[in-house]
Amino acid sequence: ASPATAPTAVTDVPVPVSPASPSQPPKMSSPQDFTFLKELGCGSWSTVMEAVHRGTGKRFAVKILSKAQLIKQKKVKYASVEKDALAKLSGTHPGIVKMYAAFQDETSLYFVLDLAPHGDLADLVKKQGSLSLRCARWYTAQIVDTVLWIHSKGIVHRDLKPENVLLDPDMRIKLTDFGSAYLSPDGDLSPRASTFVGSAAYVSPELLNRASKTTSNSSDFWAIGCSLFFMVAGHPAFAAINDYQSFRKIEALDYTFPEGFYDSAKDLVQRLVVLDPSERLGVEPKSSPAELRAHAFFTATSGDTDTPIRWDTLW
Ligand code: ATP
Repeated sequence: ASPATAPTAVTDVPVPVSPASPSQPPKMSSPQDFTFLKELGCGSWSTVMEAVHRGTGKRFAVKILSKAQLIKQKKVKYASVEKDALAKLSGTHPGIVKMYAAFQDETSLYFVLDLAPHGDLADLVKKQGSLSLRCARWYTAQIVDTVLWIHSKGIVHRDLKPENVLLDPDMRIKLTDFGSAYLSPDGDLSPRASTFVGSAAYVSPELLNRASKTTSNSSDFWAIGCSLFFMVAGHPAFAAINDYQSFRKIEALDYTFPEGFYDSAKDLVQRLVVLDPSERLGVEPKSSPAELRAHAFFTATSGDTDTPIRWDTLW
């Protein structure tokens, strides 16, 4: 993958702030309104830079997508889906990365986003080896709350994985990377035809299956189960030497829990990582979001110092 060409980075230099006049809000409509500091990460067709807004001195993450790359790799739709999803969801829920502005110049598209200074959930788990029961419960609850919210807005993420769960300054989650999302024109998220989207170790079997290849909000529930497995085990459930082997394991539901995997987490994973999309916990009409929220993983506690999830004060 070739990343977008990012503006020249400036490091360790005091950033001048040019205050706007009281009557005019500070402008955020071109790359010249920002001083670019350093590269935060690199996606398949984008570069994400930390940048300071010259008008306010505030720091943001600016995702830069090269137009030439998008056209060459036939990913123009990816960029417009990401922008549309963020425009619809931005500022509506604390678990979703906020988009402050979107603009373009001759070469690139720019999305100005919340800066997530602590990296992503995958990095956290890799650093720690695995997460404690309490910590895995807190992060899973935030992911569930955020995913249920986006579904209520008629959007399926379809590429949910720990790498797309960023961590804000308070170590709470910010879901990002909506380029593979499905946006229902009418809010209806019942199963429908789809092309392959997602990432090898987290993609649901129905998106792999050549015959059915359907998408519905159920694919995100599969990915929540896989993400919980990863947090507790420290490695993906369907990790393999290549994507093809991962896909084979997914279709055969071939994974094993390592020793010491918390019982309540195991039960939740087993109810989410289910081959039949209609049988997953939380998926209507056989189950419901309320049933998912009420699962013992969130409500039962292991001792005096442990607390159950309070969904009303989660954030
Ligand atoms: P992919 O190839 O996985 O689809 P992408 O092109 O959609 O990636 P992102 O996942 O949005 O790109 O971003 C690439 C990387 O940049 C992320 O893995 C993360 O490390 C970093 N990054 C993205 N957004 C932010 C942000 N708001 N704050 C801090 N870092 C970020």
